[in-house]
Amino acid sequence: MAPILSKIAIVGAGVSGIAAAKQLSHHQPVVFEATDCIGGVWKHCSYRSTKLQSPRCDYEFADFPWPNRENADFPSHLEILEYLDSYASHFDLRRFIRFNSKVVAIRFISDVSANGDSGEYGVLLPGRPVWEISVMDTESGTIQLYKVEMVVMCIGKYGDIARLPEFPSGRGPEKFAGKVMHSLDYCKLGKEEARELVKGKRVAVIGYKKSAIDLAVECAETNEGEEEGKSCTMVVRGLHWTVPHYWVWGLPFFFFFSTRSSQFLHERPNQTFLKTLICLLLSPIKQGVSKFIESYLTWKMPLEKYGLKPEHPFLEDYASCQMAIMPETFFRHADEGKIVIKKASKWCFWNGGIEFDDGSRSEFDVVIMATGFDGKKKLNDIFPPQFRTFLHYPSGMMPLYRGTINPMIPNMAFVGYLESVANLHTAEIRSIWLARLVDEKLKLPETRKMVEQINEEMEVMKRTTRFYKRHCISTYSINHSDQMCEEMGWNPWRKNTWFSEAFSPYGSQDYNKTTTK
Ligand SMILES: Cc1cc2nc3c(=O)[nH]c(=O)nc-3n(C[C@H](O)[C@H](O)[C@H](O)COP(=O)(O)OP(=O)(O)OC[C@H]3O[C@@H](n4cnc5c(N)ncnc54)[C@H](O)[C@@H]3O)c2cc1C
Repeated sequence: MAPILSKIAIVGAGVSGIAAAKQLSHHQPVVFEATDCIGGVWKHCSYRSTKLQSPRCDYEFADFPWPNRENADFPSHLEILEYLDSYASHFDLRRFIRFNSKVVAIRFISDVSANGDSGEYGVLLPGRPVWEISVMDTESGTIQLYKVEMVVMCIGKYGDIARLPEFPSGRGPEKFAGKVMHSLDYCKLGKEEARELVKGKRVAVIGYKKSAIDLAVECAETNEGEEEGKSCTMVVRGLHWTVPHYWVWGLPFFFFFSTRSSQFLHERPNQTFLKTLICLLLSPIKQGVSKFIESYLTWKMPLEKYGLKPEHPFLEDYASCQMAIMPETFFRHADEGKIVIKKASKWCFWNGGIEFDDGSRSEFDVVIMATGFDGKKKLNDIFPPQFRTFLHYPSGMMPLYRGTINPMIPNMAFVGYLESVANLHTAEIRSIWLARLVDEKLKLPETRKMVEQINEEMEVMKRTTRFYKRHCISTYSINHSDQMCEEMGWNPWRKNTWFSEAFSPYGSQDYNKTTTK
């Protein structure tokens, strides 16, 4: 018989997993982590040059400030790992974590569905096992079964499984005489190995998101000053806005999106008719803000010169959590010819390199695909078949109430699937809310109402941005937190004066329990 280790199993020990473990620590959860350390993407999905895309104070736990939080520099991935390590030590979280323990299957072993006859989602800890989890010891390869009442999925949307483009038959990587790898494999290389891979080589980096941009800069830096140094070609399909830093025409970035007054301009789910009308009347201001930022970005960076100016408004990228910080040196390397941009909607391999949709061919020694990750597959692979259809809407978005509970899946929570501009805070506040739900200090609405709320969030995203596959709440994150505060019995208005309530940015510190109002 499968042993019962704990009432609650948390899968994954990245930012979300440790946030959930901390908030649920009074239940002595067991945390299964596939690797030998905490930190998730910051350990396994980062290059030498990977940095946080915001100042550290925007990426901190409410009850554990960064030691040097006033430092406005964006911390490196090593500094983030150090911070997460000290968080785990401070709250003694490692005692819950089983490292090198990869969950390979989850089986539903109860006969109770998520919703009883009353149409209500049941309690999360029903007093009997609901899930059987198969866990592989990654060192010995042995599998052990465990039974738990509840599972918290924190395996992350990024990392672990590479998303690769599809190619016409016979025109894929097998055709290419050089080396092909995904950015995930590049992250596994040591400093010297990574240098050797790109030094003096003709490198193509596929993609134009954060991983691709950082990789191109790293490749250019390796070849800087080298006589035999070659350029790095970025193969770009879709464009998104990038920002150089957190100031726009002398104004801090938060001024436009992270205050109550700025978010008031944006549509939010289930708003009143009056609010809809106000949003409509104020929409020229909203569009003006987007244009204002676009004008700054095109003035500050040679986006037009390199054909990197997107056609769509900045706001659509912000509303879909697609904004990436452009490293300061990117355009210097481009001006020096060390980074070359090649736009192509389709491409495939030939023996010597890449063939583009305009018929041209380029020779390469190394092709690195920074084409993203397959988070859906990661989840599907371990999920019981009878629940897989509930995991994603056809649009690609995961249906999660408060970004945490899937109304159709019993005794399970998800942390780390809803995105915003500060994902640590997003995961933490949901973990606080989840712990109260587990302890029955708050009650979920009927399933029908939860589904309505989720659908409404999806509709808002669809109306706001064409990139609505990700569940992103960045334009109404304060309202999302307000609703969770109300459900937890907290005062959603967290500031001391009406002025700061309206004009100062909301961050994790506003939700510190010791300042709970
Ligand atoms: C390159 C990059 C840069 C980013 N920059 C920012 C940024 O600047 N700001 C920001 O807010 N967000 C950023 N993000 C988003 C980032 O993903 C989140 O901030 C956050 O770190 C996600 O944490 P997580 O715990 O949800 O997922 P992950 O960090 O992916 O952690 C998941 C954990 O689960 C483990 N796991 C996976 N499968 C299993 C299994 N089957 N069994 C057991 N364990 C398993 C993994 O080993 C991993 O440790 C960035 C992401 C990437 C990839």
